[in-house]
Parts: sequence; C-alpha cells; structure tokens
Amino acid sequence: MIDKRKVVLVGTGLVGMSMVYSIVNQGIDVNELVLIDVLKDKAEGEAMDISDGIPCSPSHMVVKAGEYSDCKDADIVVITAGLNQKPGQTRLELSEANANIMKDITNQVVESGFNGIFLVASNPVDIMTKVVQEISGFPTNKVIGSGTALDTSRLRYQIGKYLDISSKNIHAYVMGEHGDSSFVPWEHSYVGCKRIIDIMKDSGRSFSDLDKIYVEVRDSAYAIIERKKATYYGIGLGLAKIVKNILNDTNEILTVSAYLNGEYGHKNIYIGVPAIINSNGAREIVELDLSLENQKRLDKSCEILTDYMNQIR
Ligand code: NAD
Repeated sequence: MIDKRKVVLVGTGLVGMSMVYSIVNQGIDVNELVLIDVLKDKAEGEAMDISDGIPCSPSHMVVKAGEYSDCKDADIVVITAGLNQKPGQTRLELSEANANIMKDITNQVVESGFNGIFLVASNPVDIMTKVVQEISGFPTNKVIGSGTALDTSRLRYQIGKYLDISSKNIHAYVMGEHGDSSFVPWEHSYVGCKRIIDIMKDSGRSFSDLDKIYVEVRDSAYAIIERKKATYYGIGLGLAKIVKNILNDTNEILTVSAYLNGEYGHKNIYIGVPAIINSNGAREIVELDLSLENQKRLDKSCEILTDYMNQIR
C-alpha cells in the first residue's frame, strides 16, 4: 500500500517536467517529488523553478533535486530520461542507445533498495519497459510503460471533436505498439453506452471517417514534431494520470504498456493493452474478444516488438 506518496522522476526534460507541472497544477496528492538527471544543475534549476510556483497551486508537495539513494522509499520511479530520434538515426539505433541508458538508471534505482512501481515513458516505450523489467527483476505487474495511454487520449479527443460529444464520454482504446503498428478495436468502442459502429450506422456517417480518425491519431506525433520539434504536454498529462491512479489505488482501466503472460495469445512481451491500474501497478489485463482482423494487427505489433527486442539483446 502507498504511504509516503513519494515520486522520483529520472529525466527532467520536456516530458518529465510536463508531468511534474501537471501534477502540481492538478493538486495530485504527492508529498515529495525528487528530480534526478544526468545534468545535475538542470534538475536543481527545475526543482527551484517549480517550487517557486507551489504557493500559487493546489499542491503542497516538496520538490527537490536528489540522488538515486532517494529512490529507496519512493512509491513510484518515473523514467523519462533518454534521447529523441536524431535526423538519419534509425529507430533501432535509438533503441540501443536508450536501452543502455535504461540499464544504467535501473541498476542504480534497484541498488537503492527501491521496492515500488516503475513507470517508463522513454521511447520506444514498449521495448524500454521490457528492458527495465528484465534488469530490475521486479514482478511484471510492478513495471509498466505509458504504452498507448497518449494515443488513446488523442483518439478520444478526435472522436469527441468529430461527434461533438465530450471526450470524457468516449470509451475507446488504441492498442498495440506505441508506434505505427497500433490499431483501434472499433468493435469495442463506445460513446456513453452506445457502440460507435451503431452511431455511425444510425446517423448515416461513412465508416471511412473512422479510418481517417485513426490515421490522424497514429500520425499525430509526426505532425506535432514537424511543427514544434517535440511532444510533451499530452504525454505529461498522461503520465500524471497514471501516477494519480497508482497512488490513489483506483483500479481504473488505462491503456498502458503491460506484460502479457498468455493474454491475447502472447507471452513475455510488453505492449499497449487496457489494464486495471492500482497501487500494485498493473493488477490485471483486460482481455477483449478481438475480431480476427484486429487479432492479426496485435500479432503483427507483437512480432515487430519482439524483433526489436531480439536485435538489441
Ligand atoms: P529531453 O531531451 O527534453 O529530456 C531528456 C532528459 O533525460 C534530459 O534532461 C537528459 O539530460 C536526461 N538524461 C539523458 N540521459 C540520462 C541518464 N543516463 N540519466 C538521467 N538523465 C538522463 O527529451 P524529452 O522530450 O523529455 O523526451 C524524453 C523521452 O520521452 C524520449 O525518449 C522521447 O522519445 C520519449 N517520449 C515518449 C512519449 C510517449 O508517449 N511514451 C511521448 C513523447 C516523448
């Protein structure tokens, strides 16, 4: 059970600090937040900057720069350290570089005596989550990645805009790799209690609109990076939501990168699936009865991730 409500962030870049800013602004109940970065001055500067704003926020937490020894009694260690893809760099080269960073960080966190939940956002996130689990030797439920949490948020926003209905009433998931092979199981997508497929049929809308929405969601990161070089607010909010659900032991369903042990016919892999999140991390995978077509899409996503994983081993 959660008692200290202490979170450590490793990697105080755009993604990590957007999460911190979201936690502060939403008054998510964190008592202590420790910032670690290979650039110590940056971690210190970020802690000073955020702390200055605490009196103007609903938050009461203490934010400070720290060391890996601070992980010992933390409830959650969030890892957003790592490199972004450089021009000309392949995804595989990025995977190798970030895997080495994950190994280095995980070893130091484990050495501290940390016994909480690892939450990974560094890309490629499904692979990096697997690396952290393997290096830490933690139970698989206690290591999760942000997976398709951001993609699902993007999907709900787009559907809400298209139907002019609050995104809060959209119950739809992006599943699979956090990447180009992701997919939407439309057969399990609802607005309120009504299937989206029925809404499309009843209102005479074209099903091709759903394909357009998916493509927009899938390519959203490229579109944002083209315009502002990086994406961070969306994922920052997504990470804050996962942190809140772990700390508050909510049992809410979120699409995170979770470990499959036979679910959906796959084993020994981390991938974006709906999972019940609580203070133990991923309590349980929600197994949907996928159409044959979507099962094939998930199989393909798993194949791509396994191939990457094998290449960086
Ligand atoms: P950034 O360059 O702004 O920040 C990365 C930070 O990590 C830097 O402060 C750097 O000093 C630090 N760092 C690097 N190596 C380190 C190490 N060994 N130990 C500790 N700190 C270290 O990058 P960003 O925009 O914040 O992105 C971070 C990661 O998040 C990238 O891998 C990016 O691809 C990923 N990302 C994931 C999602 C998602 O949905 N999962 C979305 C956007 C970005």
